[in-house]
Amino acid sequence: MSKFVMIIFGASGDLTKRKLMPALYALYKDNRLPEDFAVLGIGRTEYQDDTYRTYIRTEMERFVAPEEHADNRMADFCDRLHYLSLNPAEAADYGKLAARLQELTGEQEPDGMLYYLATPPSLYGVIPLHLKAAGLNRPHTRIIVEKPFGYDLDSARELNRIYASVFEEHQIYRIDHFLGKETAQNILAFRFANGIFEPLWNRNYIDYVEITAVENLGIEQRGGFYEGAGALRDMVQNHLIQLVALTAMEPPAVFNADNFRNEVVKVYESLSPLTEEDLNEHIVRGQYTASATKPGYREEKNVAPDSRTETYIAMKIGIDNWRWSGVPFYIRTGKQMPTKVTEIVVHFRETPHQMFRCEGGHCPRANKLILRLQPNEGIVLKFGMKVPGPGFDVKQVMMDFSYSDLGGLPTGDAYARLIEDCIQGDQTLFTRSDAVDASWRFFDPVLKFWQEHPDAPLYGYPVGTWGPLESEAMMREHGAEWTNPCKN
Ligand code: NAP
Repeated sequence: MSKFVMIIFGASGDLTKRKLMPALYALYKDNRLPEDFAVLGIGRTEYQDDTYRTYIRTEMERFVAPEEHADNRMADFCDRLHYLSLNPAEAADYGKLAARLQELTGEQEPDGMLYYLATPPSLYGVIPLHLKAAGLNRPHTRIIVEKPFGYDLDSARELNRIYASVFEEHQIYRIDHFLGKETAQNILAFRFANGIFEPLWNRNYIDYVEITAVENLGIEQRGGFYEGAGALRDMVQNHLIQLVALTAMEPPAVFNADNFRNEVVKVYESLSPLTEEDLNEHIVRGQYTASATKPGYREEKNVAPDSRTETYIAMKIGIDNWRWSGVPFYIRTGKQMPTKVTEIVVHFRETPHQMFRCEGGHCPRANKLILRLQPNEGIVLKFGMKVPGPGFDVKQVMMDFSYSDLGGLPTGDAYARLIEDCIQGDQTLFTRSDAVDASWRFFDPVLKFWQEHPDAPLYGYPVGTWGPLESEAMMREHGAEWTNPCKN
């Protein structure tokens, strides 16, 4: 009998095979799962336990490093997998789920049950209600819900209301794999485990902050999904704003889930509400257009030929508090950019006076700190130094830390870390209901503005470029410019 069961809704889907199963296997291999665990996959697709095991085993050969397939442990792991074919949208099917769970766990209550919702988001509000009706929302259960949690402010609030009617907040884990990344967590360690940066980390010493999360791919085969989402919902409302929070938050007095999440919410609540001027001038929306070799967004499969869905967005964000008043945060995300990179660039204020000559006539007078989250994970500090030789010319050089110097990042990715945290009851890296609400309160006006102004500009940018030139113009207002990695 199993004492711990993880029930995956959407077990025949892409996320399960690509991320969840490899993550569970990584945890299993390192003996980091509860001893008597079982996984019960749920979906409408017809599988038996044995055919599901074969399917997952085959998929694991694509998504797990080759040296780990042949291992006996893979076979042992697959033996823990079970499958139940049912339609999660049908209340009547949940009786079958209750019966199967009893079969797996026996008469005694198991120590833990974890539901993982990896279905299309349209089912996120339905499944908890059906679980409740079937009496499956027991006190020792937890539930992980994939992103996106809501489509706008109203739908996010409705989901929060439904979840609160079925589970206690301590049982709800709204997952966002960005926070599971080692390099995202390291922003906190970098800031709060070092004495030298934090005294400078404020409006007196920082001029502006850039946050970039771009990729060099298009929407691949996901036109249907992306048409209903766009860059704001897919990246900005969740990932980018979390990076803003990690960069801008106050240090919690004691590091625990409540204190950390309180500080995140305080940042969201301090975001300067977007004015009419911001909506018109401090948001740049773009859509990639064809290059000589690649199609534009409107030519992609399942995309409307006159689509106005944004594949790029850049925004200027203000934070109204003592630490950050007057310091703009420029954030951007885009598809089909020249490279894939996620990084935070902190621009310190310029020296008040430059008494040296600069190599080549151009003198960068400001220090720049780059926190590179992916790829080539690391941290770079740029500073001026004297050019060796006669005279006093100065040039900019770098102090450079790379995770590769430590032998690279640990294996097992963000999903392994987050699933393990959930099993252990640690909610630190999961989004709380008030954070969802505060973040949507800030971004909802952008969606409304676009709805109400269908002719608001949507700039084209050719595949393989850094987005619309208008986003450069937005930065120039502040005398700033984007740090494109190839220009570093
Ligand atoms: P998916 O492959 O499209 O769907 C997962 C499963 O849901 C399908 O295999 C299907 O199983 C079931 N399903 C689909 N439509 C259904 C319907 N109308 N009624 C009942 N069941 C239905 O999705 P996914 O890519 O795995 O993603 C799952 C969730 O994770 C999504 O909300 C996505 O936004 C989020 N997410 C995915 C990724 C990723 O890398 N894929 C990354 C981050 C977040 P059956 O047909 O067997 O029922």
